[in-house]
Amino acid sequence: MQLTGQQFLGFTQSKEGISKFHAVNPSTGEALPTDFIEATSGEIDAAIQKAEDAFGAYRKKTGKEKAGFLDQIGEEIMALGDDLIQRCMKETGLPEARLQGERGRTVNQLKLFAELLREGSWVDARIDTAIPDRQPLPRPDIRQMKIALGPVGVFGASNFPLAFSVAGGDTASALAAGCSVIVKAHPAHPGTSEMVASAIINAAKKRGMPDGVFSMVQGASVEVGMSIVNHSLIKAIGFTGSFKGGKAIYDAAVRRAEPIPVYAEMGSTNPVFILPRALKERGKEIAKGLVNSVTLGVGQFCTNPGVVVAIESNDRNKFVKETSELLTESNSGAMLTENIQKAFVAGINKFTATEGVSIIAKGKTAGSSCEGTAYLLQTTGQNFLNNQELSEEIFGPSTLAISAANKEELFAIAENLQGHLTATLICTGEDLEEFHSLVMILERKVGRLLINGFPTGVEVGHAMIHGGPFPATTDSRTTSVGTAAIYRFVRPVSYQDFPQQILPVELKNENRLGIWRFINGEFTKDKV
Ligand code: NAP
Repeated sequence: MQLTGQQFLGFTQSKEGISKFHAVNPSTGEALPTDFIEATSGEIDAAIQKAEDAFGAYRKKTGKEKAGFLDQIGEEIMALGDDLIQRCMKETGLPEARLQGERGRTVNQLKLFAELLREGSWVDARIDTAIPDRQPLPRPDIRQMKIALGPVGVFGASNFPLAFSVAGGDTASALAAGCSVIVKAHPAHPGTSEMVASAIINAAKKRGMPDGVFSMVQGASVEVGMSIVNHSLIKAIGFTGSFKGGKAIYDAAVRRAEPIPVYAEMGSTNPVFILPRALKERGKEIAKGLVNSVTLGVGQFCTNPGVVVAIESNDRNKFVKETSELLTESNSGAMLTENIQKAFVAGINKFTATEGVSIIAKGKTAGSSCEGTAYLLQTTGQNFLNNQELSEEIFGPSTLAISAANKEELFAIAENLQGHLTATLICTGEDLEEFHSLVMILERKVGRLLINGFPTGVEVGHAMIHGGPFPATTDSRTTSVGTAAIYRFVRPVSYQDFPQQILPVELKNENRLGIWRFINGEFTKDKV
């Protein structure tokens, strides 16, 4: 596919701007062909106006029609073939197999939302039928369901150029909810973004979706993103990226004349607690799993285990030695962008400049461009508790091994954690009995608790929560992965004493869609 560097304002391509930028191959430092043009405020406004116009028609499409659109997007992405993978490899430095896997995940994610729409019960229909002779007052007929919010702004993430980007989880869940979408493409992979945007536009045309249901603008300055956040017709934002970016967008959104929800997933250090009996029984195996998880994808996952806590003992010393040996053998890899690599190095330098933090192992260095080399850092529990900044995420292949002086200190570390996406217990059954109150503490700190696994690898399903209390996200009540993500972009509406003919189909007596409904306090597929 020939790249144009233009914006997609619904079905119209536009190139009004004069500011140009280009993609860079992080593995070689070479500038890639095609100038991308930063969107002007006029183009952004036109895209959002189109999104507003399209919203009225799109939200009234049936669940089956929207499902067909999502499936078609998947088909169009697959039809881009190897061109997409090759361009994406050049823009991100990520290996072919990883990107093929990520493409599969992106398409399956779209299919999963399509299935949810075809089944239909996700609208959470609730019906309280009238009781005209209730004393002292009659009860009215009240029916409730979820409806779409309106045009949604989505920020693509750098570290998942397909699955968390233009047609990623935020876009899929917003389109499934019935919202129109405007994507701000991530400037690290503009060509990949353009190809995927063209696939979405093709799908929209083939499935008879309204012009404006999807738009995408390019930009390498914060103004483009902020113009979307501040536009009065935008009703919600989905974001994955840095704390700095996510918090700036959140702050802008709450300062608007009409504040809007921002679902920003900003990463975390995902603490892992390794309990004594597990350490004794299988320290070597745990060391292997940990090093694999820390170095996977050059550590550029928001679920990377950045903190590992264990109680001081000979078993722990042995485990740290084994982890060090394995990590020393790990290869470096190209990081996604020069800025991410610089931030990684700055993070390591900041930690090691903190008193009481030492480097105990370092992976292999190849001397290549944009390289990320693995680090194992160490500190004491007391030092960790005294230095809040050691809780900050270093985005890349590193982890901080914390030796807790005793059980009480391990509990104090857990109590003092801020919000994270995940927390992990590596344990035996006996460990769990002894440390069971850790679960109660960690439930308040994270969105996903794991036992005897590692947090990298986020399953896309119905039960997944990829979220957590601030600062991991700006809204802990939801998820950015899995079908529950749809609830970020809807709100409940009650219809009181509505005649049957104007009720939404989901709430009519007959239940033509055969969905689960909560009628007078009972889940049923019956008609009223
Ligand atoms: P980023 O800097 O947060 O950028 C993400 C997107 O947000 C980009 O489109 C960026 O646009 C935009 N943006 C950033 N700051 C903004 C602001 N103040 N106002 C408006 N828009 C803004 O993330 P990144 O470039 O992907 O990586 C940088 C750092 O983010 C990493 O070092 C890492 O710490 C973190 N990160 C976290 C995750 C995660 O999974 N949570 C994923 C990737 C990265 P512009 O580039 O045009 O400014």
